[in-house]
Amino acid sequence: MNLPIDMRFDHDVIQLLAIVRHPAVMRWGQAGVFCGVDKKGERIADGPTISDDFQEGAKGRWTKLLNTDGSEEWWRIVPYLICVCADYPQAQGMLPFNESASGAYCPCRGCNYRQDRSMRHEKPHSFFEDSRTWKLRSLQRLLADIERWRQRGDPGSEMQDAGVNKLVYTLCADFFPHINPTNIAPQDIMHNFPDGITRHEAAWLLYMLHSRKHLSLSQVNDAIARHKWPRDCRVPKIPASVEDGATGRFPRSDATIHMSASQTITFALHRYAPTPPGLASTLAAHRSLCNACVTHCVTHCVTRCAVCSVSLLSPLLSESAKQTTYWQSWVAHVRVLEMSLRTEYTLADVTTLDDCIQRHHKLFFKVSPAPSSNRSLLLFVVAAYARCLLLTTPCLLLLLTPRRRSLQVKEYDGLWKPKHHFITHTPIDLLRFGPPRGFWCMSFEGFNKLIKQAAELSNYRAEDVFVLEHWVFKSARMLRRKRDRAWCA
Ligand SMILES: [Zn+2]
Repeated sequence: MNLPIDMRFDHDVIQLLAIVRHPAVMRWGQAGVFCGVDKKGERIADGPTISDDFQEGAKGRWTKLLNTDGSEEWWRIVPYLICVCADYPQAQGMLPFNESASGAYCPCRGCNYRQDRSMRHEKPHSFFEDSRTWKLRSLQRLLADIERWRQRGDPGSEMQDAGVNKLVYTLCADFFPHINPTNIAPQDIMHNFPDGITRHEAAWLLYMLHSRKHLSLSQVNDAIARHKWPRDCRVPKIPASVEDGATGRFPRSDATIHMSASQTITFALHRYAPTPPGLASTLAAHRSLCNACVTHCVTHCVTRCAVCSVSLLSPLLSESAKQTTYWQSWVAHVRVLEMSLRTEYTLADVTTLDDCIQRHHKLFFKVSPAPSSNRSLLLFVVAAYARCLLLTTPCLLLLLTPRRRSLQVKEYDGLWKPKHHFITHTPIDLLRFGPPRGFWCMSFEGFNKLIKQAAELSNYRAEDVFVLEHWVFKSARMLRRKRDRAWCA
């Protein structure tokens, strides 16, 4: 974690401690594979496991190291597991919590949040300002509850209410010394934003703009075709399916713009701008350091050159379109995305990010102004006519007068996703682990490509052992080449 972010995500320095076949996880579970125990916590593995290595390592190992001045000194090295980067199913598999990014009844691994599609629980929230609505999980409380449930044998619905679904789990202090399961796996901004709500909210925005005649998708696609995107990421056309809405001219909950994570970030944030003097060499240096992480350079451009999809779509919109809540919600979302992708923060930035998340959520929920649809206009005319006729009957008048609330359209009702809540954890994670880009899954998912290539080389015979050995030699060669290019010539 102390390495600069560029170096931390350089594939050459990734060391594989273990590689696991999916069928093995399906058969033995995460605790069986990593810790060698069954669901009751009883030992089932014959040989050493990853957790055995950590438990042995906790005793420390004395090693002679070189100081910066060339002198030698003995140091006691102790390995700790300090951060786990994982998608939702994997994090849920390793932690005691029952969590899903799409489930109907869905607690959160970081707090006592749950949602039930009724919108009762969905509202803007800040862990900095409001500690009453959702409370961060407490390690002491969790351990005490689990111990009580273990002794009771039949915890009943208490476990479900607490969002816990297993009593023996991988990321436990018994297997990995000093670990804290309530905060070891921070929220991943790749799965929350570009692989999550950014793709959806872009589709919802474009549907609203298209269906309300503010612009057409062909205009957007023409703008995309004309835009000068970065060389390493081409943004595809918006699919025609974005034009399809749900009953009542609302956006579909599952609508998406069908872009990869890096394409979504590029679409949302990138704007071409002439490169200032001196920046070209800096960008080139960053590209050479970070070839696998295509969005790194995009973000680099964002922080220095310009921001964003807003400038791509703004010229196509009238002033009234820019006043709509769905447009302002998108602008607020882009601001949150841009702030979440930075590589450096001050303490003030953390609170600003928290404010931006709240602002986005408030706009997401804000009822839009009355639409100028024919149906609304007709209702207004009928009601106004009735009002003239029925001046002496105030009760009936009350019923027929088109009060503003009844004509307003809650365009995003029912579109709230659990990931909207998970994003509210980002400022807390930032304080605990540093910039979210320092532990996001983007680069590691890119690393999967190298693993797949190695698996193909193995001809699928003992591919796990082959992949490990292949990567050990390959990364060693690449690291040696950095120090001694002639050696690899
Ligand atoms: Zn939460």
